[in-house]
Amino acid sequence: MKGLTDELNCVVELLEGGATLEDVIDNHIYEQALAEKSAFVVADLGALMQQHVLWQSTLPMVRPFYPVKCNSSPAVIEILAALGVGFVCANKAEVSVVLNHDVSPKNIIMSGVCKQQSHIKYAAKNGVNYLMCDNEAELCKIARSHPNAKLLLQLCTEAQTEEASMVFGCSLKSCRHLLEAAKELGVDVVGVVFQVPATCKDSQVYAHALSDARCVFDMGEEFGFNMEILDIGSGFSGSEFQLKHTLAAIRPLLEDYFPVGSGVRVIAEPGTFYVSSSFTLAVNVIGKIAAKDLHAELTPSDHPEFLYYLSDGVFGSFVGKLMGSTIPFPAVHKMSFTADEPVFSSSLWGPSCDALDQLVEHCLLPELSVGDWLIFKNMGASGHEEAAVISDSEKPPVYYTISTSDWFLMQEAGLCLDTMKNFLLLQDGL
Ligand SMILES: *Cc1c(COP(=O)(O)O)cnc(C)c1O
Repeated sequence: MKGLTDELNCVVELLEGGATLEDVIDNHIYEQALAEKSAFVVADLGALMQQHVLWQSTLPMVRPFYPVKCNSSPAVIEILAALGVGFVCANKAEVSVVLNHDVSPKNIIMSGVCKQQSHIKYAAKNGVNYLMCDNEAELCKIARSHPNAKLLLQLCTEAQTEEASMVFGCSLKSCRHLLEAAKELGVDVVGVVFQVPATCKDSQVYAHALSDARCVFDMGEEFGFNMEILDIGSGFSGSEFQLKHTLAAIRPLLEDYFPVGSGVRVIAEPGTFYVSSSFTLAVNVIGKIAAKDLHAELTPSDHPEFLYYLSDGVFGSFVGKLMGSTIPFPAVHKMSFTADEPVFSSSLWGPSCDALDQLVEHCLLPELSVGDWLIFKNMGASGHEEAAVISDSEKPPVYYTISTSDWFLMQEAGLCLDTMKNFLLLQDGL
Protein backbone atom coordinates (compact mmCIF):
# COMPACT_ATOMS: atom_id res chain seq x y z
CA MET A 1 0.00 0.00 0.00
CA LYS A 2 1.48 3.29 -1.03
CA GLY A 3 1.42 6.23 1.36
CA LEU A 4 -0.42 9.47 0.70
CA THR A 5 2.79 11.33 0.21
CA ASP A 6 4.08 8.90 -2.41
CA GLU A 7 5.17 10.59 -5.64
CA LEU A 8 2.83 8.44 -7.70
CA ASN A 9 -0.32 9.33 -5.86
CA CYS A 10 -2.58 12.03 -7.22
CA VAL A 11 -5.07 13.61 -4.86
CA VAL A 12 -7.86 15.02 -7.03
CA GLU A 13 -10.57 17.32 -5.78
CA LEU A 14 -13.99 16.64 -7.32
CA LEU A 15 -15.81 19.92 -8.00
CA GLU A 16 -19.34 19.31 -6.86
CA GLY A 17 -22.45 21.47 -6.63
CA GLY A 18 -21.45 23.89 -9.39
CA ALA A 19 -18.07 24.78 -7.88
CA THR A 20 -15.70 26.16 -10.53
CA LEU A 21 -11.96 26.35 -11.08
CA GLU A 22 -12.15 30.02 -10.05
CA ASP A 23 -13.59 28.99 -6.68
CA VAL A 24 -10.69 26.61 -6.20
CA ILE A 25 -8.22 29.38 -7.05
CA ASP A 26 -9.95 31.77 -4.62
CA ASN A 27 -9.75 29.20 -1.85
CA HIS A 28 -6.09 28.48 -2.40
CA ILE A 29 -5.20 32.17 -2.61
CA TYR A 30 -6.83 32.59 0.77
CA GLU A 31 -4.96 29.59 2.22
CA GLN A 32 -1.65 30.56 0.64
CA ALA A 33 -1.92 34.11 1.92
CA LEU A 34 -2.45 32.72 5.42
CA ALA A 35 0.55 30.42 5.07
CA GLU A 36 2.64 33.21 3.48
CA LYS A 37 3.20 31.08 0.37
CA SER A 38 3.56 32.73 -2.97
CA ALA A 39 2.76 30.53 -5.97
CA PHE A 40 0.68 27.48 -6.80
CA VAL A 41 -0.75 25.62 -9.76
CA VAL A 42 -4.32 24.42 -10.25
CA ALA A 43 -4.72 21.57 -12.73
CA ASP A 44 -8.06 20.86 -14.37
CA LEU A 45 -7.87 17.20 -15.35
CA GLY A 46 -11.19 17.53 -17.14
CA ALA A 47 -9.51 19.81 -19.69
CA LEU A 48 -6.97 17.02 -20.35
CA MET A 49 -9.81 14.55 -20.90
CA GLN A 50 -11.60 17.02 -23.21
CA GLN A 51 -8.46 17.35 -25.35
CA HIS A 52 -8.35 13.58 -25.68
CA VAL A 53 -12.00 13.50 -26.75
CA LEU A 54 -11.23 16.23 -29.32
CA TRP A 55 -8.26 14.24 -30.67
CA GLN A 56 -10.24 11.00 -30.89
CA SER A 57 -13.15 12.64 -32.69
CA THR A 58 -10.96 14.60 -35.14
CA LEU A 59 -8.00 12.33 -35.88
CA PRO A 60 -9.24 8.83 -34.92
CA MET A 61 -6.85 7.24 -37.42
CA VAL A 62 -3.78 8.71 -35.70
CA ARG A 63 -2.79 7.21 -32.34
CA PRO A 64 -1.35 9.77 -29.92
CA PHE A 65 1.98 9.20 -28.12
CA TYR A 66 2.43 11.81 -25.40
CA PRO A 67 5.96 13.30 -24.98
CA VAL A 68 6.61 13.06 -21.24
CA LYS A 69 8.99 16.04 -21.21
CA CYS A 70 6.01 18.41 -21.78
CA ASN A 71 4.65 17.71 -18.30
CA SER A 72 5.35 14.61 -16.25
CA SER A 73 2.84 15.26 -13.46
CA PRO A 74 1.71 11.89 -12.10
CA ALA A 75 -1.98 12.65 -12.71
CA VAL A 76 -1.29 13.47 -16.37
CA ILE A 77 0.64 10.24 -16.92
CA GLU A 78 -1.95 8.20 -15.01
CA ILE A 79 -4.93 9.50 -17.02
CA LEU A 80 -3.24 9.31 -20.41
CA ALA A 81 -2.03 5.78 -19.65
CA ALA A 82 -5.57 4.74 -18.66
CA LEU A 83 -6.88 6.26 -21.91
CA GLY A 84 -4.51 4.05 -23.88
CA VAL A 85 -2.26 6.87 -25.09
CA GLY A 86 1.36 5.85 -25.77
CA PHE A 87 4.43 7.75 -24.51
CA VAL A 88 7.54 9.32 -26.00
CA CYS A 89 10.44 9.42 -23.53
CA ALA A 90 13.67 11.35 -24.03
CA ASN A 91 15.75 9.58 -21.38
CA LYS A 92 16.00 6.87 -18.75
CA ALA A 93 14.26 8.93 -16.05
CA GLU A 94 11.21 9.50 -18.25
CA VAL A 95 11.04 5.82 -19.23
CA SER A 96 11.15 4.86 -15.58
CA VAL A 97 8.34 7.30 -14.67
CA VAL A 98 6.11 5.81 -17.36
CA LEU A 99 6.96 2.18 -16.51
CA ASN A 100 6.10 2.95 -12.86
CA HIS A 101 2.58 3.75 -14.04
CA ASP A 102 2.35 0.19 -15.39
CA VAL A 103 2.52 1.25 -19.04
CA SER A 104 3.58 -1.62 -21.29
CA PRO A 105 7.03 -1.07 -22.83
CA LYS A 106 5.37 -1.72 -26.20
CA ASN A 107 3.62 1.65 -25.78
CA ILE A 108 6.84 3.59 -25.25
CA ILE A 109 9.11 5.16 -27.85
CA MET A 110 12.50 6.53 -26.90
CA SER A 111 13.20 9.80 -28.71
CA GLY A 112 16.35 11.85 -28.98
CA VAL A 113 18.92 11.64 -31.73
CA CYS A 114 21.79 11.31 -29.29
CA LYS A 115 21.01 8.97 -26.41
CA GLN A 116 23.46 7.97 -23.70
CA GLN A 117 24.67 4.41 -24.02
CA SER A 118 23.47 3.62 -20.49
CA HIS A 119 19.97 4.86 -21.40
CA ILE A 120 19.90 2.63 -24.46
CA LYS A 121 20.92 -0.33 -22.26
CA TYR A 122 18.18 0.57 -19.79
CA ALA A 123 15.63 0.59 -22.62
CA ALA A 124 16.89 -2.81 -23.80
CA LYS A 125 16.68 -4.29 -20.31
CA ASN A 126 13.11 -3.06 -19.85
CA GLY A 127 11.79 -4.15 -23.24
CA VAL A 128 11.46 -0.62 -24.64
CA ASN A 129 12.31 -1.47 -28.23
CA TYR A 130 11.13 1.49 -30.29
CA LEU A 131 13.95 4.03 -30.64
CA MET A 132 14.36 7.07 -32.86
CA CYS A 133 17.58 7.47 -34.79
CA ASP A 134 18.90 9.92 -37.39
CA ASN A 135 22.64 9.29 -37.64
CA GLU A 136 25.20 6.55 -38.01
CA ALA A 137 26.97 7.09 -34.69
CA GLU A 138 23.65 6.59 -32.91
CA LEU A 139 22.91 3.53 -35.03
CA CYS A 140 26.25 1.96 -33.99
CA LYS A 141 25.55 2.63 -30.29
CA ILE A 142 22.12 1.00 -30.63
CA ALA A 143 23.61 -1.99 -32.51
CA ARG A 144 26.07 -2.52 -29.64
CA SER A 145 23.60 -2.30 -26.74
CA HIS A 146 20.10 -3.11 -27.90
CA PRO A 147 19.67 -6.45 -29.68
CA ASN A 148 15.88 -6.06 -30.05
CA ALA A 149 15.79 -2.43 -31.19
CA LYS A 150 13.18 -1.37 -33.74
CA LEU A 151 14.15 1.95 -35.26
CA LEU A 152 12.11 4.89 -36.42
CA LEU A 153 14.30 6.88 -38.79
CA GLN A 154 13.96 10.59 -38.20
CA LEU A 155 13.50 12.48 -41.44
CA CYS A 156 14.03 16.26 -41.59
CA THR A 157 11.27 18.53 -42.88
CA GLU A 158 11.52 21.84 -44.75
CA ALA A 159 9.85 23.66 -41.87
CA GLN A 160 12.63 22.59 -39.55
CA THR A 161 15.34 23.52 -41.96
CA GLU A 162 13.89 27.02 -42.34
CA GLU A 163 13.01 27.75 -38.73
CA ALA A 164 15.18 25.83 -36.34
CA SER A 165 18.70 26.77 -35.46
CA MET A 166 19.47 23.08 -34.97
CA VAL A 167 18.22 20.62 -37.54
CA PHE A 168 17.16 17.16 -36.45
CA GLY A 169 16.50 14.38 -38.84
CA CYS A 170 18.29 13.25 -41.95
CA SER A 171 17.78 13.87 -45.63
CA LEU A 172 16.34 11.25 -47.99
CA LYS A 173 19.84 10.49 -49.22
CA SER A 174 21.27 9.85 -45.77
CA CYS A 175 18.19 7.72 -44.98
CA ARG A 176 19.23 5.32 -47.73
CA HIS A 177 22.71 5.20 -46.26
CA LEU A 178 21.34 4.57 -42.74
CA LEU A 179 19.06 1.80 -43.99
CA GLU A 180 22.05 0.16 -45.64
CA ALA A 181 24.15 0.49 -42.48
CA ALA A 182 21.29 -0.88 -40.32
CA LYS A 183 21.01 -3.88 -42.64
CA GLU A 184 24.74 -4.58 -42.29
CA LEU A 185 24.66 -4.21 -38.50
CA GLY A 186 21.55 -6.38 -38.22
CA VAL A 187 19.42 -3.62 -36.64
CA ASP A 188 15.70 -3.68 -37.45
CA VAL A 189 14.05 -0.57 -38.96
CA VAL A 190 10.26 -0.33 -38.67
CA GLY A 191 9.27 3.18 -39.63
CA VAL A 192 9.75 6.89 -40.08
CA VAL A 193 9.23 9.95 -37.87
CA PHE A 194 9.25 13.64 -38.81
CA GLN A 195 8.44 16.87 -36.95
CA VAL A 196 6.46 19.87 -38.17
CA PRO A 197 6.66 22.71 -35.61
CA ALA A 198 3.43 24.33 -34.35
CA THR A 199 4.59 27.68 -35.73
CA CYS A 200 4.58 26.28 -39.27
CA LYS A 201 1.47 27.51 -41.09
CA ASP A 202 2.29 26.03 -44.48
CA SER A 203 0.39 22.80 -45.05
CA GLN A 204 2.63 22.06 -48.08
CA VAL A 205 5.24 20.99 -45.54
CA TYR A 206 3.10 17.93 -44.78
CA ALA A 207 2.81 17.16 -48.49
CA HIS A 208 6.59 17.02 -48.84
CA ALA A 209 7.19 15.26 -45.53
CA LEU A 210 4.64 12.53 -46.27
CA SER A 211 5.91 11.97 -49.78
CA ASP A 212 9.49 11.76 -48.43
CA ALA A 213 8.28 9.33 -45.76
CA ARG A 214 6.71 7.18 -48.49
CA CYS A 215 10.09 7.11 -50.27
CA VAL A 216 11.83 5.93 -47.11
CA PHE A 217 9.14 3.24 -46.63
CA ASP A 218 9.81 2.04 -50.18
CA MET A 219 13.58 2.04 -49.66
CA GLY A 220 13.17 0.22 -46.35
CA GLU A 221 11.03 -2.44 -47.99
CA GLU A 222 13.69 -2.84 -50.72
CA PHE A 223 16.19 -3.63 -47.97
CA GLY A 224 13.76 -6.21 -46.59
CA PHE A 225 12.55 -4.26 -43.56
CA ASN A 226 8.93 -4.52 -42.46
CA MET A 227 8.01 -0.81 -42.43
CA GLU A 228 4.92 -0.42 -40.28
CA ILE A 229 4.98 2.83 -38.26
CA LEU A 230 4.59 6.38 -39.52
CA ASP A 231 5.04 9.06 -36.82
CA ILE A 232 3.89 12.53 -37.92
CA GLY A 233 5.43 14.20 -34.85
CA SER A 234 4.22 17.13 -32.78
CA GLY A 235 3.21 20.69 -33.52
CA PHE A 236 -0.42 20.61 -32.35
CA SER A 237 -1.18 23.81 -30.46
CA GLY A 238 -4.25 22.49 -28.70
CA SER A 239 -6.85 24.44 -30.66
CA GLU A 240 -9.63 22.61 -32.45
CA PHE A 241 -9.21 24.92 -35.43
CA GLN A 242 -5.55 24.02 -35.89
CA LEU A 243 -6.25 20.30 -35.45
CA LYS A 244 -8.94 20.40 -38.16
CA HIS A 245 -6.62 22.39 -40.40
CA THR A 246 -3.96 19.69 -39.98
CA LEU A 247 -6.52 16.97 -40.64
CA ALA A 248 -7.51 18.68 -43.89
CA ALA A 249 -3.83 18.85 -44.91
CA ILE A 250 -2.92 15.25 -44.12
CA ARG A 251 -6.04 13.16 -44.78
CA PRO A 252 -5.84 13.08 -48.60
CA LEU A 253 -2.07 12.47 -48.42
CA LEU A 254 -2.43 9.61 -45.97
CA GLU A 255 -5.10 8.09 -48.20
CA ASP A 256 -2.71 8.28 -51.16
CA TYR A 257 0.56 7.24 -49.57
CA PHE A 258 -0.45 5.14 -46.57
CA PRO A 259 -3.97 3.80 -47.24
CA VAL A 260 -5.76 2.00 -44.42
CA GLY A 261 -5.28 -1.40 -46.06
CA SER A 262 -1.49 -0.98 -46.18
CA GLY A 263 -1.12 -2.08 -42.56
CA VAL A 264 0.87 1.03 -41.64
CA ARG A 265 0.08 2.39 -38.16
CA VAL A 266 0.01 6.20 -38.09
CA ILE A 267 0.93 7.88 -34.81
CA ALA A 268 1.69 11.44 -33.60
CA GLU A 269 3.34 13.12 -30.61
CA PRO A 270 0.95 15.76 -29.25
CA GLY A 271 2.36 17.28 -26.06
CA THR A 272 1.31 20.92 -25.75
CA PHE A 273 -2.01 19.84 -27.27
CA TYR A 274 -2.86 17.70 -24.25
CA VAL A 275 -1.58 19.65 -21.28
CA SER A 276 -1.32 23.36 -22.06
CA SER A 277 -4.88 24.39 -21.14
CA SER A 278 -5.13 22.14 -18.08
CA PHE A 279 -2.67 24.03 -15.88
CA THR A 280 -3.20 27.49 -14.39
CA LEU A 281 -0.47 29.21 -12.36
CA ALA A 282 -1.15 31.79 -9.63
CA VAL A 283 1.74 34.03 -8.53
CA ASN A 284 2.10 36.78 -6.00
CA VAL A 285 3.34 40.35 -6.56
CA ILE A 286 6.38 40.71 -4.29
CA GLY A 287 7.75 44.07 -5.39
CA LYS A 288 6.72 47.21 -7.27
CA ILE A 289 8.55 50.16 -8.82
CA ALA A 290 6.86 53.18 -10.37
CA ALA A 291 8.80 54.37 -13.44
CA LYS A 292 8.50 57.99 -12.40
CA ASP A 293 10.73 57.13 -9.44
CA LEU A 294 13.34 55.54 -11.72
CA HIS A 295 13.44 58.17 -14.45
CA ALA A 296 12.59 61.28 -12.49
CA GLU A 297 13.17 63.79 -15.28
CA LEU A 298 11.80 61.68 -18.19
CA THR A 299 8.20 61.42 -19.19
CA PRO A 300 7.49 57.71 -19.13
CA SER A 301 5.99 57.56 -22.64
CA ASP A 302 8.29 54.77 -23.80
CA HIS A 303 8.78 53.13 -20.44
CA PRO A 304 6.22 51.04 -18.67
CA GLU A 305 4.70 53.05 -15.84
CA PHE A 306 5.01 50.22 -13.35
CA LEU A 307 7.50 47.38 -12.92
CA TYR A 308 6.29 44.49 -10.85
CA TYR A 309 8.37 41.69 -9.39
CA LEU A 310 6.60 38.33 -9.10
CA SER A 311 7.29 35.42 -6.80
CA ASP A 312 8.19 33.10 -9.69
CA GLY A 313 10.28 33.70 -12.82
CA VAL A 314 12.26 32.14 -15.65
CA PHE A 315 14.37 30.12 -13.22
CA GLY A 316 11.14 28.51 -11.99
CA SER A 317 7.69 28.08 -13.48
CA PHE A 318 8.39 30.34 -16.47
CA VAL A 319 11.43 28.39 -17.65
CA GLY A 320 9.71 28.02 -21.04
CA LYS A 321 10.53 31.70 -21.69
CA LEU A 322 14.24 30.81 -21.77
CA MET A 323 13.43 28.24 -24.44
CA GLY A 324 11.66 30.74 -26.64
CA SER A 325 7.99 30.48 -25.73
CA THR A 326 5.95 33.58 -25.05
CA ILE A 327 4.25 33.95 -21.72
CA PRO A 328 0.51 34.53 -21.95
CA PHE A 329 -0.72 37.86 -20.50
CA PRO A 330 -1.96 37.31 -16.98
CA ALA A 331 -5.32 38.15 -15.48
CA VAL A 332 -5.58 39.99 -12.19
CA HIS A 333 -7.18 37.90 -9.50
CA LYS A 334 -10.73 39.19 -9.37
CA MET A 335 -11.09 39.68 -5.62
CA SER A 336 -8.57 42.50 -5.74
CA PHE A 337 -10.16 44.74 -8.38
CA THR A 338 -13.28 46.29 -9.81
CA ALA A 339 -13.85 46.17 -13.55
CA ASP A 340 -13.66 49.89 -14.36
CA GLU A 341 -10.28 50.74 -12.84
CA PRO A 342 -7.80 52.57 -15.12
CA VAL A 343 -5.00 50.46 -16.63
CA PHE A 344 -1.30 51.30 -16.98
CA SER A 345 1.54 50.03 -19.11
CA SER A 346 3.31 47.50 -16.89
CA SER A 347 6.25 45.12 -17.15
CA LEU A 348 6.56 41.89 -15.19
CA TRP A 349 9.74 40.42 -13.77
CA GLY A 350 10.72 37.30 -11.88
CA PRO A 351 12.29 37.57 -8.44
CA SER A 352 15.94 36.99 -9.44
CA CYS A 353 16.97 40.56 -10.45
CA ASP A 354 18.65 38.95 -13.48
CA ALA A 355 18.22 40.70 -16.84
CA LEU A 356 17.02 37.37 -18.31
CA ASP A 357 14.19 37.26 -15.83
CA GLN A 358 11.81 39.59 -17.66
CA LEU A 359 8.52 37.74 -18.11
CA VAL A 360 6.32 40.24 -19.95
CA GLU A 361 7.83 43.39 -21.46
CA HIS A 362 4.60 45.30 -21.69
CA CYS A 363 1.01 44.64 -20.74
CA LEU A 364 -1.90 46.72 -19.52
CA LEU A 365 -2.85 46.18 -15.90
CA PRO A 366 -4.64 48.13 -13.21
CA GLU A 367 -2.29 49.44 -10.54
CA LEU A 368 -1.27 46.48 -8.36
CA SER A 369 -0.01 46.35 -4.81
CA VAL A 370 2.50 44.01 -3.22
CA GLY A 371 0.55 40.93 -2.15
CA ASP A 372 -1.87 40.96 -5.12
CA TRP A 373 -2.15 37.82 -7.26
CA LEU A 374 -1.80 37.30 -11.00
CA ILE A 375 -3.27 34.30 -12.83
CA PHE A 376 -1.49 32.78 -15.84
CA LYS A 377 -3.54 30.33 -17.91
CA ASN A 378 -2.31 27.71 -20.40
CA MET A 379 0.82 26.92 -18.40
CA GLY A 380 0.62 23.12 -18.72
CA ALA A 381 3.46 22.74 -21.20
CA SER A 382 5.70 25.46 -19.81
CA GLY A 383 8.17 23.07 -18.24
CA HIS A 384 7.40 23.99 -14.62
CA GLU A 385 7.88 20.32 -13.75
CA GLU A 386 11.52 20.50 -14.72
CA ALA A 387 12.11 23.98 -13.32
CA ALA A 388 13.41 22.62 -10.03
CA VAL A 389 16.31 21.11 -11.96
CA ILE A 390 17.85 24.45 -12.95
CA SER A 391 17.14 26.36 -9.78
CA ASP A 392 16.91 25.33 -6.20
CA SER A 393 13.66 27.22 -5.77
CA GLU A 394 10.80 25.28 -4.31
CA LYS A 395 8.36 23.93 -6.88
CA PRO A 396 4.89 25.47 -6.48
CA PRO A 397 2.38 22.91 -5.20
CA VAL A 398 -0.06 21.49 -7.79
CA TYR A 399 -3.72 21.06 -6.82
CA TYR A 400 -5.59 18.66 -9.08
CA THR A 401 -9.31 19.12 -9.73
CA ILE A 402 -11.99 17.66 -11.95
CA SER A 403 -15.62 18.70 -12.42
CA THR A 404 -18.36 16.15 -11.80
CA SER A 405 -19.41 16.21 -15.46
CA ASP A 406 -15.82 15.60 -16.67
CA TRP A 407 -15.47 12.79 -14.14
CA PHE A 408 -18.60 11.18 -15.64
CA LEU A 409 -17.10 11.65 -19.09
CA MET A 410 -13.96 9.84 -17.89
CA GLN A 411 -15.98 6.99 -16.48
CA GLU A 412 -17.83 6.71 -19.79
CA ALA A 413 -14.43 6.41 -21.47
CA GLY A 414 -13.80 3.39 -19.25
CA LEU A 415 -11.63 5.00 -16.58
CA CYS A 416 -12.47 4.19 -13.01
CA LEU A 417 -10.78 4.25 -9.64
CA ASP A 418 -10.17 0.50 -9.79
CA THR A 419 -7.95 0.81 -12.84
CA MET A 420 -6.33 4.09 -11.78
CA LYS A 421 -4.85 2.83 -8.58
CA ASN A 422 -2.81 5.96 -7.87
CA PHE A 423 -5.83 8.23 -8.05
CA LEU A 424 -7.45 9.51 -4.86
CA LEU A 425 -10.69 11.39 -5.40
CA LEU A 426 -11.69 13.90 -2.72
CA GLN A 427 -15.46 14.03 -2.88
CA ASP A 428 -16.21 17.07 -0.74
CA GLY A 429 -13.13 19.15 -1.13
CA LEU A 430 -14.73 22.56 -1.02
C1 LIG B 1 8.92 18.27 -27.02
C2 LIG B 1 8.63 17.18 -27.93
C3 LIG B 1 7.34 17.05 -28.47
C4 LIG B 1 6.21 17.97 -28.11
O1 LIG B 1 5.98 18.99 -28.94
P1 LIG B 1 4.66 19.90 -28.78
O2 LIG B 1 4.78 20.82 -29.90
O3 LIG B 1 4.76 20.51 -27.41
O4 LIG B 1 3.50 18.99 -28.85
C5 LIG B 1 7.12 15.98 -29.32
N1 LIG B 1 8.07 15.07 -29.61
C6 LIG B 1 9.31 15.16 -29.10
C7 LIG B 1 10.33 14.13 -29.46
C8 LIG B 1 9.63 16.21 -28.24
O5 LIG B 1 10.88 16.30 -27.72
